[in-house]
Amino acid sequence: MSLRSRWFSRAEDRVEAWLTRHHQERVLAGETKPVGPCPDESFLQSLVRHSNRIAFTDPRVGHAANCPMCMRRLLELQPAYKARRRRMVLTTAAAFCCVIVVAFILVARHGANPPRPVPDVAAVQLTVDLWNAGTLRGDQPSPLQSVTLPAALAKVTIILPRYSESGRYAVAVTRDRTGNEILSHGSATAIAARDREEVSIDLDLRNSQPGSYFLSTTHEQDQASYYYPLQIK
Ligand SMILES: [Zn+2]
Repeated sequence: MSLRSRWFSRAEDRVEAWLTRHHQERVLAGETKPVGPCPDESFLQSLVRHSNRIAFTDPRVGHAANCPMCMRRLLELQPAYKARRRRMVLTTAAAFCCVIVVAFILVARHGANPPRPVPDVAAVQLTVDLWNAGTLRGDQPSPLQSVTLPAALAKVTIILPRYSESGRYAVAVTRDRTGNEILSHGSATAIAARDREEVSIDLDLRNSQPGSYFLSTTHEQDQASYYYPLQIK
């Protein structure tokens, strides 16, 4: 980021913070008219956590943003959430340090004759059949079946949708369909099996939280990515 754009974003942050404060003051003073009933506590908690499951088009978001009661509760919940997040970051950092120390000890012990790689017997073998799957490219809606994968080390054979080209494919599990937050990825050459193209790939989803994600396939040549809704169980 250039110095200039950094300055602009800092200035933008300041304006945003001011607008937020100004809006909050108006809401708390009862100068706004909330529409609809107050949402329940769990919804307000999700809102504070910036949960991805909440769409900003949800009328409850609009209500909470204009209701003095909900706003007050949100402001109460915020410090607790921030403290928890800070604790989580510290715990993660501490765990990371432990991992580094353990890695150092292991390298010091086994450095001279490294142990042979352990065969990953725990990998789950799976087939994902996309033969009849519609695809969604970019931001089109998703009218299709969902793929389910376990939160485990998986050897996945993907049967590519009909009319798929041969060649090398990059496969990834992502948080959204713009390819953000890659949980696991790999690439392999598609193998023709009967009349179908199949890609076999190892996906390590052991650290994934159960939830909704996307499985993407990208053909190396045309670079077009296709996203399929994915559930991690
Ligand atoms: Zn309310």
